[in-house]
Amino acid sequence: MSKLVKNIMERMVEDKLDQMLPSLGCCTCDVCRTDILCYALNRLKPKYVSSEQGELLSRVDSISITYEAAIMTEIASAVEIVKKNPHHRNK
Ligand SMILES: [Zn+2]
Repeated sequence: MSKLVKNIMERMVEDKLDQMLPSLGCCTCDVCRTDILCYALNRLKPKYVSSEQGELLSRVDSISITYEAAIMTEIASAVEIVKKNPHHRNK
């Protein structure tokens, strides 16, 4: 019962996006943020781990180093696309 199967790529991309977003000059509303997340996640391979809740968080840290460059690349291209085609009117 305590075993979890998690796609930790979701967590890694979300963490990285929150770090990068302020410096990307992109709209940071929930609509755009979610669009960027989906786009990046669709292009990155999912990374499933089976783990207890507690150890999951420490594993995210060590695994994210391996994928950091790929994650940053996909976030950067996702931002370019969402900037050009926001799912709402420009304010
Ligand atoms: Zn927005």
